[in-house]
Amino acid sequence: MAHDRSVASPEYLRALPKAEFHCHLEGSVPATTAVSLARRNGVKLRTADPDVLYQFDTFEEFLDVYVAVSAAMTTPRDFAEVAYDCLTDAQRTGNLRYREMSFNPTNHPSLTYPQMLEGLLDGLRSAQADTGVECRLIVAINREQSPSVARDLVADVIAHRCDEVVAIGIDHNERAGAPAEFVEAYRAAAAAGLHRTAHAGERGDSQEVRDSIELLGVERIDHGYAVLSDPDLVTSARSEGIHFATCWSTGLLHHGGDPAAIEIGPMIAAGLSVSINSDDPPMFNTDIGTEFVLAGQSLSLTRDQAADLARAGLDSAFVDDTDRSRLHKVFAAEIERLDRELDGHDPTD
Ligand SMILES: [Zn+2]
Repeated sequence: MAHDRSVASPEYLRALPKAEFHCHLEGSVPATTAVSLARRNGVKLRTADPDVLYQFDTFEEFLDVYVAVSAAMTTPRDFAEVAYDCLTDAQRTGNLRYREMSFNPTNHPSLTYPQMLEGLLDGLRSAQADTGVECRLIVAINREQSPSVARDLVADVIAHRCDEVVAIGIDHNERAGAPAEFVEAYRAAAAAGLHRTAHAGERGDSQEVRDSIELLGVERIDHGYAVLSDPDLVTSARSEGIHFATCWSTGLLHHGGDPAAIEIGPMIAAGLSVSINSDDPPMFNTDIGTEFVLAGQSLSLTRDQAADLARAGLDSAFVDDTDRSRLHKVFAAEIERLDRELDGHDPTD
């Protein structure tokens, strides 16, 4: 039977090479790992039952779980193991090739920033050595904490510069800390040559997206769905090349589980630069391969459109031109190989 070139099958969507820019280390801890980390480190979670741990109905409940799981990571070894496992799992289940992964240093008060970094770099390098997956890091500000905590964090990042840490971001509850409060931290990061991204417009309005771009000087927005309610902002984001790192499954939480309400399709149709990302994969029962399957099938993507979406974020990756062109070549070769493989199995070709 002939393969339909016009439709991206679930297998094709899962097998495409992936690059993602919006994935949280602390949101990437499988429930069973979280329970054993908590036990190992003497930290109490709301339940020791991994089948129940990631059950929540609201964003606030999700954040409570996220903070509790963060607290269960208390040693450099924990960071190394979590980083290694989440990268190699994503490589195996969704052909992840490149990730810029964020972590919240101020959610781990028992460790210094260099101690966390030591564990993370160990995990990143082992994952790359074993599977080829590349990962860089984004230091995330917890906006529920004060602007002075954010300033101190950025100072720490600058005092301990390393090549793998490429950017700062900001996350947690958008209703807690407006972009304007974090201008100083973002200015310091920019002056030190760090890239900038921010969670905005997930539950907040388009003004939050605009403020993140205009006040914080971000190059990318995590989520950003509210941009659609401001046509002028859509136009300027498109012309300035602002990238939107969107997430299918976590978006469902805000839309009562209705995929038709997800804004990602309209954002792509509006000509915005958009990538598909896994956000907090095990906490939302997903992975980067599944995110592509869900988005690809819901949006009825053709194979070419799906391949374009897989490559879409590379131009906004926080890498230099040499690495960018190397990644583009890796993706082009992989997509060509995938197409050949699929067509080669087609006896009618
Ligand atoms: Zn996020």
